[in-house]
Amino acid sequence: MIKKTIYIDMDGVLADFQKAADLIPDWAPEHDKMHPDEVLDFSTFEVIPGAKEAVAKLIDMGHDLFIASTPPWNNKAAWGQKGAWIEEHFPALKRKVFLTHRKDLLIGDILIDDTTYRGQKDFQGEFIHFGTSGSQDWEEVISHVCIDNQTTLFPQESWIHERNPDTGVVRKRLSGDYGNELIVESSNG
Ligand SMILES: [Mg+2]
Repeated sequence: MIKKTIYIDMDGVLADFQKAADLIPDWAPEHDKMHPDEVLDFSTFEVIPGAKEAVAKLIDMGHDLFIASTPPWNNKAAWGQKGAWIEEHFPALKRKVFLTHRKDLLIGDILIDDTTYRGQKDFQGEFIHFGTSGSQDWEEVISHVCIDNQTTLFPQESWIHERNPDTGVVRKRLSGDYGNELIVESSNG
């Protein structure tokens, strides 16, 4: 298993910003309709379908997940609301959050994001453009990550660790497979 550092955007990827924005009534002030990010309560957003299952699966694969979100500068309350939302819906990701307007500066392997205007295209790893062809939803993203890294198809629990008592070398193999072809790493100690 190759452990990857994966950054996941919030709005439009984990949290359904658009659904909340669409609920702003016609009679609301023009400002609110033009700048929903400045008036919405970010702690109330629904979870994007499939996001919870996908995050659980990526963690189960052994990857290191982080949230990378750009909070609205003119709505400081949203910064705290995002924290509350993460704690409620993705407790495994609390204290694993980057609030940034420069996603190109993040260091890691994969960035999953639905927009391109915060440096996403200059991210040094792989940028998965969520919501576009091939990455339309979480199911497609997960299968892409699996195909990209065949060894991650097998959840961590499937691996059996064996230590050679003479050499101290630890090898990993899949349950029921006694060939060497699926041993992906070995180490001393
Ligand atoms: Mg977004």
